[in-house]
Amino acid sequence: MNSIFKQLLNVKGMVVENVCIVDGPMRPEPVLEVRVRPRAGMLRCSRCGRKRRGYDRGGGVRRWRHQDFGCWRVELVASMPRVDCPKCGVVVASVPWAEPGSRFTRDFEAECAWLMTVANQRTVSGFLHIAWRTAGQIARRVAGRLRASAPSPFDGLHAIGVDETSYRKGHTYITVVVDHERGRVIWAHDGYGKDVFDLFFQQLTPGQRASIRVVTGDGAKWIDSCVHEWCP
Ligand SMILES: [Zn+2]
Repeated sequence: MNSIFKQLLNVKGMVVENVCIVDGPMRPEPVLEVRVRPRAGMLRCSRCGRKRRGYDRGGGVRRWRHQDFGCWRVELVASMPRVDCPKCGVVVASVPWAEPGSRFTRDFEAECAWLMTVANQRTVSGFLHIAWRTAGQIARRVAGRLRASAPSPFDGLHAIGVDETSYRKGHTYITVVVDHERGRVIWAHDGYGKDVFDLFFQQLTPGQRASIRVVTGDGAKWIDSCVHEWCP
């Protein structure tokens, strides 16, 4: 049973100790409670993120909401190990299934963030049984994780395109830069002209600028002069 749940939860470095159903008059609904712990060799300091030696399990009992299994609400429960970190002292370990400080597993957070992109507030809150404020905090954490793991959109550029476009009936302009090879927008800024396009090139490292071989544009002078200056 524990190994089936280990497979279902699919978190590297997690040990499933026990699974039980917790029910009672004090509970609004029965909960599928999965007792877990991080594998001993996988302990990391929750402050600095370094791998550290375990100290004890005195970090208190914590719970994380996970995705429901059908109509069952699922919660992971762990007696938190502490680590002895030479830098941060004796502190609670981080766990491989959740961000420090979050009451939700990463899988739950990923589902919530995706749902927020395709459904309205009422649907998200009602379907996941969480407050909209909480969903906002989750979305911020997921966005942070994605940013940290995604490579820079400015790496490996070969062919870019630039143009200004207007909105509000042509009164307000923005400059947009696209990556032709990956087919996506990589930068946008209010206004247009040389000063604005300069800001784009200023954000690139010399190496990133050097890899650009083709710049397409509509022949505007500000585009040509910028390209001559930054990508000769
Ligand atoms: Zn530390």
